Amino acid sequence: MTAAPLPPPAAPLIDPFARAIRYLRVSVTDRCDFRCVYCMSEKMQFLPKKELLTLEELDRLCSAFIRLGVEKLRITGGEPLVRRNIMEFFRAMTRHLDSGALKELTLTTNGSQLGKYAEELYAAGVRRVNVSLDTLDEEKFARVTRWGRLPQVLDGIDAARAAGLQVKINTVALKGFNEDELFTLTEFCAARGMDLTFIEVMPMGDIGNEDRIGQYWNLAELRHTLGTRYSLHDLPDRTGGPARYVRLGETRQRVGFITPMSHNFCESCNRVRVTCTGEIYTCLGQEGHSDLRGPLRESEGDAGLERAIHAAIALKPKGHDFDYDRQEVSGRVSRHMSHTGG
Ligand code: SAM
Ligand code: SF4
Repeated sequence: MTAAPLPPPAAPLIDPFARAIRYLRVSVTDRCDFRCVYCMSEKMQFLPKKELLTLEELDRLCSAFIRLGVEKLRITGGEPLVRRNIMEFFRAMTRHLDSGALKELTLTTNGSQLGKYAEELYAAGVRRVNVSLDTLDEEKFARVTRWGRLPQVLDGIDAARAAGLQVKINTVALKGFNEDELFTLTEFCAARGMDLTFIEVMPMGDIGNEDRIGQYWNLAELRHTLGTRYSLHDLPDRTGGPARYVRLGETRQRVGFITPMSHNFCESCNRVRVTCTGEIYTCLGQEGHSDLRGPLRESEGDAGLERAIHAAIALKPKGHDFDYDRQEVSGRVSRHMSHTGG
C-alpha cells in the first residue's frame, strides 16, 4: 500500500512587491501600567474584554502565520506582561521553536514585570527582549511614563539579564527631555553589554496636550552628537525594518537608529502587525487594515483564517508617508501605538 501524498505546504506570504513576510508583531493587550506621554493620554478608554482575542485565538492566529512562513514573532502591546495568563501563551509558542518553524520568539516591554516573569520567559524559549527606557533620572522617568517607577524597571532589567535574556534598550528621542542623557544612557548600556536603539517619535494617536513637533528630535542630529565622543562604524545589518546600526569603536556596543520619519525603509519591509482585536495592519504608517477576528471566530478550522491572511498581504502597500518636514504632521495616523503595537 502506498502512503497518502502529503498535503501541499501552505503557500508562503509574498506581497505584491515581492517582499516575503517573515516577521509578525502581535499586540496582546491595549492596556498598560504606564501612561507614557507620547503614547497614551492620561485617561485612556480601553477596549471591553470581549473585543480582545483570547489566548486560544492568539495561539491559532500566530500558528497560522508560522505555517505560512513567519519565522520571527514579537509580542507587544500595550504592555504585554500585564495581560492575564500571558505566560500560557508564551509557553504554547515554545512548540514552534522546538519544531524549528519559528526561529525567534521575543517581546517588547516596559520592563515593569520582568522581575516577575524573566525566568519563565527564558524557560519558554525567549532569548532576547527589548525594554523601553527613556531616562535614567527617577523624577524624569515618573514624568514621561506618568505612572512608572524607575527602580522597578531597573530591577526588571537586572532580572532579565540574570535569567540569561539578552536585553536591548529602546529609547524614544525626545527634544528637551533626554538630549542631555545621550552619553549617560550609552554608558549605562555599554556597562551591561546591552545594545541601544533610539526611536524617533511618531505621530500616533491622540495623546492630549503634548506637542509632537516640540518632541521631535532628529536622529541625524543625535547621531552627530554621539560621534563627538565615540567613533561610529556603520554596520550592514538590515533586519528588514526601519533601524540602521553602528558599532561604537570604544565600547563595541551596537547602537541603532529607528527613523521612520526621515528615512525610507519600506522597500525591505518584511513585517506585518496584528492588533489585540485581530486587525492586521500591513503598514505601520497607513490606515489600511483587514479583520482577522471574524474569520477566527467564524470557524474552528483555519482555512478561512489563512485565506484572510493571504488577502490582507495582497493589499500590503508599498510604503508610508509620515512627514514632519513642513513643520506640520502629515501622513499622521489616528490610532495609538499601544493599539497597533510598537
Ligand atoms: N509597553 C511596551 C513598551 O513600552 O515597550 C510595548 C508597547 S510600546 C507601544 C512599544 C514601543 O513603542 C516603545 O518602545 C515605545 O517607546 C514606543 N512608542 C510608543 N509611542 C510612540 C510614538 N508616538 N513614537 C515613537 N515610539 C513610540
Ligand atoms: Fe505603555 Fe509602552 Fe505605551 Fe509606555 S510606550 S504607555 S509602556 S504601551
